[in-house]
Amino acid sequence: MNDCLFCRIATGAISTKLIWSNEEFVAFRDIDPRAPVHVLVVPRRHLDSLAALAEEDPAYAGRFVRAAVAVAGREGLLDPERGFRFVANTGPEGGQSVAHLHAHILGGRALAWPPG
Ligand code: 5GP
Ligand code: ZN
Repeated sequence: MNDCLFCRIATGAISTKLIWSNEEFVAFRDIDPRAPVHVLVVPRRHLDSLAALAEEDPAYAGRFVRAAVAVAGREGLLDPERGFRFVANTGPEGGQSVAHLHAHILGGRALAWPPG
């Protein structure tokens, strides 16, 4: 049995409301939102991190970015007055707590910089 949390969410083994999905990627709201919009975009295939994505077909990596931006658009964040942050925490010092690639899409308020 695959005990990866996001593999289990992507396959439906753990019931989570998906706000968007296609054959390759799923998107769902973060359980601990840090902004009014806080969505995770996750590949259905297990990849450990952004570093692993960089080893994949660049077209697949491009589709991942496109999916994340499409989700941001569905949340209204592509409005010229809005905006959002695309974050892929990578590795221990990067603050990655789930070892399955995910993009955080954060928005809905003015976001501070730099991150902690
Ligand atoms: P990371 O810390 O790896 O960058 O991001 C992992 C994110 O997954 C965290 O923001 C955390 O709140 C979220 N998360 C952890 N477990 C679950 C869960 O079971 N369901 C959902 N929707 N989000 C989760
Ligand atoms: Zn996984």
